[in-house]
Amino acid sequence: MYDYIIIGGGIVGTSTAWQLSQRCPGTSILLLEKEKNLALHQTGRNSGVIHAGVYYQPGSLKSLFCRNGNDMVYRFCQEYGLPWENCGKLIVATNPAEFVRMEKLYQRARENLIDVEWLNRDQLGEREPHIVGVGAFLVRKTGITDYRLFTGKMAEQFNKAGGEIRLGTEVIDLKEMADEVRVETTKGDFAARHLITCAGLMSDRLVRMLGLKANFQIVPFRGEYYQLPRNKRDIIHHLIYPVPDPDLPFLGVHLTRMIDGSVTVGPNAVLALKREGYHKGDVSLRDLKEMAIFRGFWKMIRENLSSGIVEYKNSFFKSGYLGLIRKYCPEIETGDLEPYPAGVRAQAVDNKGALIHDFLFVNSKRSINVCNAPSPAATSALPIGGYILDQAARVFN
Ligand SMILES: Cc1cc2nc3c(=O)[nH]c(=O)nc-3n(C[C@H](O)[C@H](O)[C@H](O)COP(=O)(O)OP(=O)(O)OC[C@H]3O[C@@H](n4cnc5c(N)ncnc54)[C@H](O)[C@@H]3O)c2cc1C
Repeated sequence: MYDYIIIGGGIVGTSTAWQLSQRCPGTSILLLEKEKNLALHQTGRNSGVIHAGVYYQPGSLKSLFCRNGNDMVYRFCQEYGLPWENCGKLIVATNPAEFVRMEKLYQRARENLIDVEWLNRDQLGEREPHIVGVGAFLVRKTGITDYRLFTGKMAEQFNKAGGEIRLGTEVIDLKEMADEVRVETTKGDFAARHLITCAGLMSDRLVRMLGLKANFQIVPFRGEYYQLPRNKRDIIHHLIYPVPDPDLPFLGVHLTRMIDGSVTVGPNAVLALKREGYHKGDVSLRDLKEMAIFRGFWKMIRENLSSGIVEYKNSFFKSGYLGLIRKYCPEIETGDLEPYPAGVRAQAVDNKGALIHDFLFVNSKRSINVCNAPSPAATSALPIGGYILDQAARVFN
């Protein structure tokens, strides 16, 4: 019998496992991951951005964890010799309507105590000669790293502290008893006094396995990327973001300098027909069926129909996708969009069809379940892990 079993070897589960091993030495902890390696889903298929926390509702968990997480990611990378760069990002408005929304976003950034600098058209041109806009603001603390390496380093430290990781071990059923939780997997059964689930795209399924009430369901949104050719990589010095739609939890197609030197274009946000479906043709009948019988799904579709259709159109026609980028970077041409692997976001949607913006947790007597951990959960993974452990101290006595 373990003291703790943690399910999910993405950045959130690994951060929780590692921090638990530091806070409570001698505790027996088992981390279960269904894939052959850690960080193969959202954690290993993202933009690698260390967000500063501009966008989030002041007072929300996202706002708090992102700001703290930003500092902690830089410190962790320095302490453990991981690659990082504090390149800063520009949020660029390209027309008067976006300018108004950008002003609001700038105010929100200041409410969130983020270090930002307003730039007029000329100042934007001085900083980024290849980018055009009617104005922009600079977010100094935004940076880049590699979250797969980051997760690997936490796992290494967890192992050193005596923690156990079992890869290729999929959890297929859970039973919470009076004094333990039984965990049935494809590699045999385990038991623990306490359970923490951090299952990303599968988070709602684990909550249902425990028999807990889940007023939400995960809806997968594929984020498709391209990358620029080598000769266009120095077209930007910062990360370049558009002004996002404030009603959606997605940031818009941006230009991102990756830590390996490449520059990605994306991601968009297309409804995926399979939770771990990284290619356009990927379909899962099980995932489709679950979506089809979920009330919230149809309400969400009705509310977001027009933006959903535009996303599909731009996904299938490169010219539409290109148009999103050329608004602020007109030099990019169709031939500059080279293939790059996609990611899939786990987005929780509630029964009324609303996309849940903040991080969401559901607890029981013996379990804590991370139900919604979309972007910026990679940046925020250390504070999320800390928060889970604070909750564990309270909920589990
Ligand atoms: C396209 C894209 C771009 C993003 N960009 C950024 C960014 O730039 N900056 C940022 O901060 N955030 C970003 N994010 C968000 C960030 O990547 C995620 O929020 C974060 O990685 C979530 O981590 P996680 O551990 O919760 O989930 P995951 O990384 O998905 O890990 C969950 C793990 O649980 C495992 N699992 C699931 N079910 C079971 C089971 N039954 N048994 C055993 N194991 C199981 C899975 O195999 C998986 O490894 C982005 C996300 C996407 C998709």
